Amino acid sequence: AIKNLSSLKKLSVLGHGNNGTTVYKVHHKKNQSFYALKVLRFNHNALEISHQAKLEAEILKRVDSPYIVRCHAVFDNTCCDSHEDGGDLRFVMEYMEGGSLHDVLRQHKGGLPEEVISVLAKRVLQGLNYLHGMHIVHRDIKPSNLLVNEKGEVKIADFGVSHVVEGRFDEACDSNVGTCAYMSPERVDPERWDGEYADGFAGDVWSVGMVMLECFLGYFPLMSDEGQKLDWATLMCAICFSEKVEMPEKASLEFKHFVQRCLEKDWRKRATITELLDHPFVNRKWCTSSEGLVNYLLHG
Ligand code: ATP
Ligand code: MG
Repeated sequence: AIKNLSSLKKLSVLGHGNNGTTVYKVHHKKNQSFYALKVLRFNHNALEISHQAKLEAEILKRVDSPYIVRCHAVFDNTCCDSHEDGGDLRFVMEYMEGGSLHDVLRQHKGGLPEEVISVLAKRVLQGLNYLHGMHIVHRDIKPSNLLVNEKGEVKIADFGVSHVVEGRFDEACDSNVGTCAYMSPERVDPERWDGEYADGFAGDVWSVGMVMLECFLGYFPLMSDEGQKLDWATLMCAICFSEKVEMPEKASLEFKHFVQRCLEKDWRKRATITELLDHPFVNRKWCTSSEGLVNYLLHG
Protein backbone atom coordinates (compact mmCIF):
# COMPACT_ATOMS: atom_id res chain seq x y z
CA ALA A 1 0.00 0.00 0.00
CA ILE A 2 1.09 3.60 -0.59
CA LYS A 3 1.08 5.37 2.75
CA ASN A 4 2.44 8.78 1.88
CA LEU A 5 3.13 10.96 -1.10
CA SER A 6 6.79 11.51 -0.31
CA SER A 7 7.49 7.92 -1.38
CA LEU A 8 6.51 8.88 -4.94
CA LYS A 9 8.96 10.48 -7.32
CA LYS A 10 7.47 12.61 -10.13
CA LEU A 11 8.90 11.64 -13.53
CA SER A 12 6.83 13.43 -16.17
CA VAL A 13 3.45 14.97 -16.98
CA LEU A 14 1.01 12.52 -18.58
CA GLY A 15 -1.82 14.93 -19.22
CA HIS A 16 -3.74 18.03 -18.22
CA GLY A 17 -7.44 18.18 -17.47
CA ASN A 18 -9.95 20.96 -17.67
CA ASN A 19 -10.08 22.39 -14.18
CA GLY A 20 -6.46 22.77 -13.21
CA THR A 21 -5.93 19.01 -13.09
CA THR A 22 -2.52 17.54 -13.82
CA VAL A 23 -1.68 13.85 -14.15
CA TYR A 24 1.93 12.81 -13.48
CA LYS A 25 3.83 9.61 -14.07
CA VAL A 26 5.44 8.72 -10.74
CA HIS A 27 7.75 6.02 -9.45
CA HIS A 28 7.51 4.21 -6.13
CA LYS A 29 11.00 3.11 -5.18
CA LYS A 30 10.14 0.45 -2.63
CA ASN A 31 7.48 -1.19 -4.82
CA GLN A 32 9.66 -0.78 -7.90
CA SER A 33 6.55 0.30 -9.80
CA PHE A 34 5.08 3.17 -11.74
CA TYR A 35 1.78 4.91 -10.97
CA ALA A 36 -0.24 7.81 -12.33
CA LEU A 37 -0.76 10.64 -9.84
CA LYS A 38 -3.77 12.85 -10.55
CA VAL A 39 -3.68 16.20 -8.73
CA LEU A 40 -6.81 18.37 -8.52
CA ARG A 41 -6.10 21.89 -7.24
CA PHE A 42 -8.70 24.20 -5.75
CA ASN A 43 -9.07 27.80 -4.87
CA HIS A 44 -11.51 29.01 -2.23
CA ASN A 45 -14.30 30.01 -4.58
CA ALA A 46 -14.35 26.63 -6.29
CA LEU A 47 -16.32 24.85 -3.58
CA GLU A 48 -18.65 23.24 -6.03
CA ILE A 49 -15.79 21.75 -7.99
CA SER A 50 -14.37 20.43 -4.79
CA HIS A 51 -17.71 18.78 -3.97
CA GLN A 52 -17.62 17.04 -7.35
CA ALA A 53 -13.97 16.13 -6.78
CA LYS A 54 -14.82 14.53 -3.44
CA LEU A 55 -17.50 12.52 -5.18
CA GLU A 56 -14.86 11.41 -7.68
CA ALA A 57 -12.70 10.30 -4.76
CA GLU A 58 -15.62 8.41 -3.19
CA ILE A 59 -16.38 6.65 -6.46
CA LEU A 60 -12.73 5.73 -7.01
CA LYS A 61 -12.51 4.22 -3.54
CA ARG A 62 -15.63 2.16 -4.13
CA VAL A 63 -15.02 0.73 -7.58
CA ASP A 64 -13.00 -2.41 -8.05
CA SER A 65 -13.11 -3.91 -11.52
CA PRO A 66 -10.68 -5.04 -14.22
CA TYR A 67 -12.53 -2.69 -16.59
CA ILE A 68 -11.96 0.46 -14.53
CA VAL A 69 -8.60 2.17 -13.91
CA ARG A 70 -7.66 1.24 -10.36
CA CYS A 71 -7.09 3.82 -7.65
CA HIS A 72 -4.59 2.73 -4.99
CA ALA A 73 -4.81 5.69 -2.62
CA VAL A 74 -6.50 9.06 -2.16
CA PHE A 75 -4.86 11.97 -0.31
CA ASP A 76 -7.20 14.79 0.70
CA ASN A 77 -5.54 18.13 1.42
CA THR A 78 -8.62 20.27 0.97
CA CYS A 79 -10.09 20.49 4.44
CA CYS A 80 -7.55 22.66 6.27
CA ASP A 81 -8.49 26.32 6.67
CA SER A 82 -4.84 27.12 6.97
CA HIS A 83 -4.41 26.66 3.22
CA GLU A 84 -3.95 29.93 1.41
CA ASP A 85 -5.58 28.37 -1.60
CA GLY A 86 -8.23 25.64 -1.44
CA GLY A 87 -5.68 22.84 -1.20
CA ASP A 88 -5.74 19.78 -3.42
CA LEU A 89 -6.89 16.19 -3.83
CA ARG A 90 -4.45 13.54 -5.05
CA PHE A 91 -5.26 10.15 -6.51
CA VAL A 92 -2.61 7.47 -6.90
CA MET A 93 -3.76 5.37 -9.83
CA GLU A 94 -2.78 2.42 -11.92
CA TYR A 95 -0.41 3.60 -14.65
CA MET A 96 -1.78 2.99 -18.15
CA GLU A 97 1.28 2.83 -20.40
CA GLY A 98 -0.58 3.10 -23.69
CA GLY A 99 -2.17 6.47 -22.93
CA SER A 100 -5.72 7.18 -23.98
CA LEU A 101 -7.80 6.06 -26.93
CA HIS A 102 -7.53 9.68 -28.08
CA ASP A 103 -3.77 9.15 -28.45
CA VAL A 104 -4.32 5.81 -30.23
CA LEU A 105 -6.68 7.48 -32.71
CA ARG A 106 -4.14 10.20 -33.44
CA GLN A 107 -1.75 7.46 -34.56
CA HIS A 108 -4.41 5.79 -36.69
CA LYS A 109 -5.86 8.66 -38.69
CA GLY A 110 -7.73 6.27 -40.99
CA GLY A 111 -9.57 4.66 -38.07
CA LEU A 112 -9.33 1.24 -36.40
CA PRO A 113 -10.40 -2.12 -37.87
CA GLU A 114 -13.67 -3.59 -36.65
CA GLU A 115 -11.84 -6.45 -34.92
CA VAL A 116 -10.14 -3.97 -32.63
CA ILE A 117 -13.27 -1.85 -32.10
CA SER A 118 -15.26 -4.97 -31.18
CA VAL A 119 -12.83 -5.81 -28.37
CA LEU A 120 -12.73 -2.19 -27.18
CA ALA A 121 -16.51 -1.89 -27.21
CA LYS A 122 -16.98 -5.09 -25.25
CA ARG A 123 -14.61 -3.96 -22.50
CA VAL A 124 -16.17 -0.51 -22.24
CA LEU A 125 -19.63 -2.11 -22.03
CA GLN A 126 -18.43 -4.47 -19.30
CA GLY A 127 -17.04 -1.48 -17.40
CA LEU A 128 -20.29 0.43 -17.73
CA ASN A 129 -22.29 -2.64 -16.76
CA TYR A 130 -20.27 -2.77 -13.55
CA LEU A 131 -20.63 0.97 -12.87
CA HIS A 132 -24.35 1.06 -13.57
CA GLY A 133 -24.76 -1.89 -11.23
CA MET A 134 -23.20 0.34 -8.57
CA HIS A 135 -25.68 3.12 -9.49
CA ILE A 136 -22.87 5.19 -10.99
CA VAL A 137 -23.47 7.10 -14.23
CA HIS A 138 -20.11 7.98 -15.79
CA ARG A 139 -21.39 10.91 -17.94
CA ASP A 140 -18.07 11.59 -19.67
CA ILE A 141 -17.31 8.56 -21.86
CA LYS A 142 -14.98 9.86 -24.59
CA PRO A 143 -11.68 8.74 -26.14
CA SER A 144 -9.47 10.70 -23.70
CA ASN A 145 -11.14 8.95 -20.75
CA LEU A 146 -10.55 5.41 -22.04
CA LEU A 147 -7.02 4.31 -21.21
CA VAL A 148 -4.88 1.49 -22.59
CA ASN A 149 -2.26 -0.53 -20.69
CA GLU A 150 0.69 -2.58 -21.94
CA LYS A 151 -1.46 -5.71 -22.15
CA GLY A 152 -3.70 -3.90 -24.64
CA GLU A 153 -6.52 -3.72 -22.11
CA VAL A 154 -8.83 -0.73 -22.26
CA LYS A 155 -10.22 0.68 -19.02
CA ILE A 156 -12.59 3.48 -18.08
CA ALA A 157 -11.04 6.44 -16.23
CA ASP A 158 -11.98 9.89 -14.98
CA PHE A 159 -15.03 10.14 -12.73
CA GLY A 160 -14.73 13.93 -12.70
CA VAL A 161 -18.35 14.54 -13.69
CA SER A 162 -19.91 11.23 -12.70
CA HIS A 163 -23.01 10.91 -10.65
CA VAL A 164 -24.35 8.45 -8.13
CA VAL A 165 -28.01 7.71 -8.72
CA GLU A 166 -29.87 7.28 -5.48
CA GLY A 167 -33.15 5.52 -5.96
CA ARG A 168 -35.01 7.27 -8.72
CA PHE A 169 -33.96 10.15 -10.92
CA ASP A 170 -31.87 12.36 -8.73
CA GLU A 171 -30.85 15.29 -10.87
CA ALA A 172 -28.52 12.68 -12.28
CA CYS A 173 -27.80 14.43 -15.50
CA ASP A 174 -29.28 17.87 -15.48
CA SER A 175 -26.10 19.82 -14.97
CA ASN A 176 -24.30 20.37 -18.22
CA VAL A 177 -20.79 19.52 -17.21
CA GLY A 178 -18.21 17.65 -19.23
CA THR A 179 -17.60 17.69 -22.95
CA CYS A 180 -20.72 18.26 -24.99
CA ALA A 181 -19.58 16.45 -28.10
CA TYR A 182 -20.35 12.95 -26.82
CA MET A 183 -23.50 13.92 -24.91
CA SER A 184 -26.85 12.33 -25.69
CA PRO A 185 -29.85 14.36 -26.92
CA GLU A 186 -31.64 14.10 -23.56
CA ARG A 187 -28.63 15.58 -21.75
CA VAL A 188 -28.21 18.40 -24.22
CA ASP A 189 -31.91 19.26 -24.39
CA PRO A 190 -33.70 19.17 -21.00
CA GLU A 191 -37.09 19.13 -22.76
CA ARG A 192 -36.46 15.50 -23.55
CA TRP A 193 -36.19 14.53 -19.90
CA ASP A 194 -38.86 12.52 -18.26
CA GLY A 195 -38.06 12.96 -14.61
CA GLU A 196 -40.11 9.91 -13.63
CA TYR A 197 -38.04 7.32 -15.40
CA ALA A 198 -34.81 8.91 -16.53
CA ASP A 199 -31.75 7.81 -14.63
CA GLY A 200 -29.00 8.85 -17.01
CA PHE A 201 -27.64 5.40 -17.79
CA ALA A 202 -28.81 5.68 -21.39
CA GLY A 203 -26.59 8.75 -21.81
CA ASP A 204 -23.50 6.58 -21.33
CA VAL A 205 -24.78 4.22 -24.06
CA TRP A 206 -25.09 7.13 -26.50
CA SER A 207 -21.49 8.12 -25.81
CA VAL A 208 -20.31 4.55 -26.47
CA GLY A 209 -21.96 4.75 -29.91
CA MET A 210 -20.24 8.07 -30.69
CA VAL A 211 -16.84 6.82 -29.51
CA MET A 212 -17.03 3.55 -31.48
CA LEU A 213 -18.11 5.36 -34.63
CA GLU A 214 -15.18 7.76 -34.16
CA CYS A 215 -12.88 4.74 -33.80
CA PHE A 216 -14.11 3.44 -37.14
CA LEU A 217 -13.87 6.76 -38.98
CA GLY A 218 -10.72 8.07 -37.32
CA TYR A 219 -12.39 11.43 -36.70
CA PHE A 220 -15.33 12.73 -34.66
CA PRO A 221 -18.55 11.77 -36.52
CA LEU A 222 -20.36 15.12 -36.32
CA MET A 223 -18.40 17.47 -38.58
CA SER A 224 -19.30 20.08 -41.18
CA ASP A 225 -19.46 19.00 -44.84
CA GLU A 226 -16.00 20.52 -45.25
CA GLY A 227 -14.67 18.32 -42.44
CA GLN A 228 -14.42 21.20 -39.97
CA LYS A 229 -15.36 21.12 -36.29
CA LEU A 230 -18.89 22.40 -35.69
CA ASP A 231 -19.47 25.35 -33.41
CA TRP A 232 -21.27 24.63 -30.17
CA ALA A 233 -24.82 25.56 -31.25
CA THR A 234 -24.60 23.64 -34.53
CA LEU A 235 -23.20 20.63 -32.72
CA MET A 236 -26.05 20.68 -30.19
CA CYS A 237 -28.58 20.89 -33.05
CA ALA A 238 -26.90 18.01 -34.86
CA ILE A 239 -27.08 15.85 -31.73
CA CYS A 240 -30.73 16.62 -31.01
CA PHE A 241 -32.46 17.27 -34.30
CA SER A 242 -30.45 16.06 -37.26
CA GLU A 243 -31.42 13.00 -39.21
CA LYS A 244 -29.86 9.82 -37.94
CA VAL A 245 -26.06 9.97 -37.84
CA GLU A 246 -24.82 8.64 -41.16
CA MET A 247 -23.20 5.21 -41.06
CA PRO A 248 -20.04 4.57 -43.07
CA GLU A 249 -20.84 2.47 -46.12
CA LYS A 250 -17.86 0.16 -45.79
CA ALA A 251 -18.79 -0.91 -42.24
CA SER A 252 -20.33 -4.34 -41.60
CA LEU A 253 -24.07 -4.60 -41.02
CA GLU A 254 -23.39 -5.72 -37.45
CA PHE A 255 -21.28 -2.68 -36.67
CA LYS A 256 -23.82 -0.30 -38.21
CA HIS A 257 -26.65 -1.89 -36.24
CA PHE A 258 -24.65 -1.76 -33.01
CA VAL A 259 -23.90 1.95 -33.42
CA GLN A 260 -27.45 2.76 -34.51
CA ARG A 261 -28.83 1.10 -31.38
CA CYS A 262 -26.55 3.34 -29.28
CA LEU A 263 -27.35 6.50 -31.21
CA GLU A 264 -31.11 6.14 -30.95
CA LYS A 265 -32.20 9.72 -30.16
CA ASP A 266 -35.10 8.71 -27.90
CA TRP A 267 -33.39 7.32 -24.81
CA ARG A 268 -36.37 5.11 -24.03
CA LYS A 269 -35.83 3.23 -27.28
CA ARG A 270 -32.04 3.16 -27.08
CA ALA A 271 -30.29 -0.17 -26.47
CA THR A 272 -29.52 -1.07 -22.88
CA ILE A 273 -26.07 -2.26 -21.84
CA THR A 274 -27.48 -5.79 -21.46
CA GLU A 275 -28.77 -5.78 -25.02
CA LEU A 276 -25.43 -4.50 -26.34
CA LEU A 277 -23.41 -7.09 -24.42
CA ASP A 278 -25.42 -9.72 -26.32
CA HIS A 279 -25.01 -7.97 -29.65
CA PRO A 280 -23.33 -10.02 -32.44
CA PHE A 281 -20.83 -7.21 -33.08
CA VAL A 282 -19.16 -7.75 -29.71
CA ASN A 283 -19.59 -11.54 -29.76
CA ARG A 284 -18.14 -12.41 -33.13
CA LYS A 285 -15.20 -14.79 -33.25
CA TRP A 286 -12.41 -12.55 -34.50
CA CYS A 287 -9.15 -13.95 -35.72
CA THR A 288 -7.03 -11.19 -34.17
CA SER A 289 -4.78 -12.57 -31.46
CA SER A 290 -4.35 -10.66 -28.26
CA GLU A 291 -0.76 -9.85 -29.28
CA GLY A 292 -2.16 -8.46 -32.50
CA LEU A 293 -4.41 -6.19 -30.50
CA VAL A 294 -1.55 -5.04 -28.28
CA ASN A 295 0.55 -4.24 -31.31
CA TYR A 296 -2.29 -2.33 -32.79
CA LEU A 297 -3.07 -0.26 -29.74
CA LEU A 298 0.43 0.34 -28.47
CA HIS A 299 2.78 0.39 -31.40
CA GLY A 300 0.82 2.28 -34.02
P1 ATP B 1 -10.28 15.89 -19.17
O1 ATP B 1 -11.08 17.04 -18.73
O2 ATP B 1 -9.45 16.15 -20.41
O3 ATP B 1 -11.08 14.64 -19.32
P2 ATP B 1 -9.42 15.32 -16.52
O4 ATP B 1 -9.17 16.53 -15.69
O5 ATP B 1 -10.76 14.75 -16.36
O6 ATP B 1 -9.18 15.60 -18.04
P3 ATP B 1 -8.16 12.75 -16.63
O7 ATP B 1 -9.07 12.47 -17.75
O8 ATP B 1 -8.29 11.87 -15.46
O9 ATP B 1 -8.31 14.27 -16.17
O10 ATP B 1 -6.66 12.73 -17.15
C1 ATP B 1 -6.19 13.58 -18.18
C2 ATP B 1 -5.26 12.83 -19.11
O11 ATP B 1 -4.12 12.32 -18.38
C3 ATP B 1 -5.87 11.61 -19.79
O12 ATP B 1 -6.56 11.95 -20.96
C4 ATP B 1 -4.63 10.74 -20.06
O13 ATP B 1 -3.98 11.16 -21.24
C5 ATP B 1 -3.73 11.02 -18.87
N1 ATP B 1 -3.95 10.02 -17.79
C6 ATP B 1 -4.89 10.09 -16.81
N2 ATP B 1 -4.85 9.01 -15.99
C7 ATP B 1 -3.85 8.23 -16.45
C8 ATP B 1 -3.31 6.95 -16.05
N3 ATP B 1 -3.82 6.27 -15.01
N4 ATP B 1 -2.29 6.43 -16.78
C9 ATP B 1 -1.80 7.09 -17.86
N5 ATP B 1 -2.26 8.29 -18.29
C10 ATP B 1 -3.28 8.86 -17.61
MG1 MG C 1 -10.56 13.15 -18.67
